[in-house]
Amino acid sequence: MDNDVIVVGAGPVGLLLAAELRLAGAQPVVLEARHGPNDEKRARGIGPLATEALRRRGLGEEIARHDAQGRADFARDHGSDNGHFAAIHKIDPALQDEPGRERTLIWQPELEKILVSYATGLGVPIRYGHRVTGLGQDEAGVTVTVTSARGELRLRSPYLAGCDGGRSTVRELVPFGFPGTPPTMTVRRAAARIEDTSALPPPGRNDRGTLFYGGGMVATFDFDDTERHRGPITAEELEASVRRISGVDVAITEVGAGLRFTDQARQASSYRLGRVLLAGDAAHVHSPSGGQGLNLGLLDAVNLGWKLAATVAGTAPAGLLDTYHHERHPVGAEVLHNTRAQSALLRPGPHSDALRDIVADLMDIPEVNRYFGRMLSGLGLRHDFPYPATHPLTGRPCPDLELTLTGGGTTRLYDLTHQGGPLMLHPAPAAQWTGFESVAVTSTGRSDLAAALIRPDGIVAWAAAPGHLDDVTRETALRTWIGAGRQRTSDG
Ligand SMILES: Cc1cc2nc3c(=O)[nH]c(=O)nc-3n(C[C@H](O)[C@H](O)[C@H](O)COP(=O)(O)OP(=O)(O)OC[C@H]3O[C@@H](n4cnc5c(N)ncnc54)[C@H](O)[C@@H]3O)c2cc1C
Repeated sequence: MDNDVIVVGAGPVGLLLAAELRLAGAQPVVLEARHGPNDEKRARGIGPLATEALRRRGLGEEIARHDAQGRADFARDHGSDNGHFAAIHKIDPALQDEPGRERTLIWQPELEKILVSYATGLGVPIRYGHRVTGLGQDEAGVTVTVTSARGELRLRSPYLAGCDGGRSTVRELVPFGFPGTPPTMTVRRAAARIEDTSALPPPGRNDRGTLFYGGGMVATFDFDDTERHRGPITAEELEASVRRISGVDVAITEVGAGLRFTDQARQASSYRLGRVLLAGDAAHVHSPSGGQGLNLGLLDAVNLGWKLAATVAGTAPAGLLDTYHHERHPVGAEVLHNTRAQSALLRPGPHSDALRDIVADLMDIPEVNRYFGRMLSGLGLRHDFPYPATHPLTGRPCPDLELTLTGGGTTRLYDLTHQGGPLMLHPAPAAQWTGFESVAVTSTGRSDLAAALIRPDGIVAWAAAPGHLDDVTRETALRTWIGAGRQRTSDG
């Protein structure tokens, strides 16, 4: 075996997964087809839960440095920094259930730079110019064929994670089922100039699609394009799209960098087949409406990393690795579901226009605004565990608690999680507890919370209100997530 885990793809998801694996003691290698980091400006931000995942690893300040500029740019482009549903920009951060838990506006290439430096700093090798072209697995491991400047290589590992994006080679080679719905729209956005705009309708929605132009940029939301396009956007392709939407023949010059994407919504039927796992866009593709894909993928990575590392080390409780699919597949399915609804609202025509008006009006009702906010931020996340949730936080991502330490002083929870292990906050940790770090606290900053076991991915595995420290689900939680590495205690 050459490494513990081969991670295919050095996009943000592969990079974070590799870092999480390394932090949990595994030796991953990342294979990336490109010859260097990706400068494609896709995502312009990540949601609150991915923001918190990065803050838990000490990357909060670095990502926050980009946020002010990101917000200013977003407000310039959309009139405010409100979140949106189907380009209805009404999700008001101030109205949300937990207004302090916010997204970060950072362009994807900037985030990738931070993750490259974080992963390499932890000792993760990233092999650029290494394209996976073949894959086979048996009972003991996975073998890949890789094309590189040194010719064709073969690498073998006990496990492999396909983080190789929406057109995943890993997904196709295994093969994983990838059911879903075909595209209803194609979106193009390119640096380009239209020679004469005088006959065009004003920028925005019209009864055939959506067209934006000006400032050296052209973007089309095209619902009548049945062709499958590959490769860079050409002037002819963009002219044809403008014509379909506006009915006007234009000449387009100076086509530069551009992006093309659709609202095809598909999800791997299983996130694990044998020793191969999928994460990020390799596991799910959908339209970028509402800016959810990268957030979703980064959370796949933090859910998978510690589970896979424990499996490789042979310390994982039975079934731990399979909880990755059970927990993350439904979350992905919900995102696909809401992006389909957004595509329906983006369709041109009087019926969608009427529905948009009604949805926009409903969003003025604060509870409805929060409903959309919870949906797009993912903050409504709650995993069902194989034991009862005896506290409202059980199964939910733990916020950054302000802790008062028994030995004196205060600290924030996320400052204790940089090493990535499981953590028990407790007023009186038992000396015999092993397999996780215990922190003695006199206060968690929440009146309803006296103790909590927090998984490496920030999910609360068990929690107790004051007066309920003997809650019996604690033992089950420890067995489920930490297992035999932990010494059983009679008093704990
Ligand atoms: C226009 C647009 C706007 C978006 N906006 C947002 C947003 O605001 N917020 C948000 O959360 N999400 C957004 N997204 C989604 C987000 O960009 C993706 O979800 C994200 O890039 C997924 O990351 P990934 O690491 O899974 O895949 P990718 O970023 O696609 O990385 C996959 C990597 O695998 C490599 N690879 C592929 N095949 C192979 C192979 N055979 N061998 C080796 N390497 C291989 C690729 O070169 C690539 O580097 C947007 C997407 C688009 C298109």
